[in-house]
Amino acid sequence: MRSQRSVTARKPDPWLQRYLELIGRANPDGIGAGIRAGYCPRCKATVLAGLDADIAALPVRLHPAPVNAHGEAAALLLAIPTYALLRRATRLEARLRDRAAIAARPPHIIAVHAEHRCGFALPAHLYRAAPRLTPLPDTPPY
Ligand SMILES: [Zn+2]
Repeated sequence: MRSQRSVTARKPDPWLQRYLELIGRANPDGIGAGIRAGYCPRCKATVLAGLDADIAALPVRLHPAPVNAHGEAAALLLAIPTYALLRRATRLEARLRDRAAIAARPPHIIAVHAEHRCGFALPAHLYRAAPRLTPLPDTPPY
């Protein structure tokens, strides 16, 4: 008779966890698809790193600035895949964008990031403009 153990994901061995964190493939709280800020191990550029799925995932590194529609088109013409950042519960997940995803949700609706290429960035006008920060008033409303 089989034991009634729960089917929960267990953490990898400590040496593997340390190694995965070192190479940027895992979060300190375990392997997950959550996207987090990090550094490219080759060029040391700031990237968004994580896995692109929960099952059979591949590690991805994304340029930290989201692209606009023209930027996504340029990236795809340069054979650079693009990913949508989706909020799932308490984390952000990257999902590869295919034709259907691009048509259904253009980059002005969701955050779309091009995959990181060492030493390469699209021209600045192909990234979404950073939101304008309005200064807080000096006098509170109360
Ligand atoms: Zn790099």
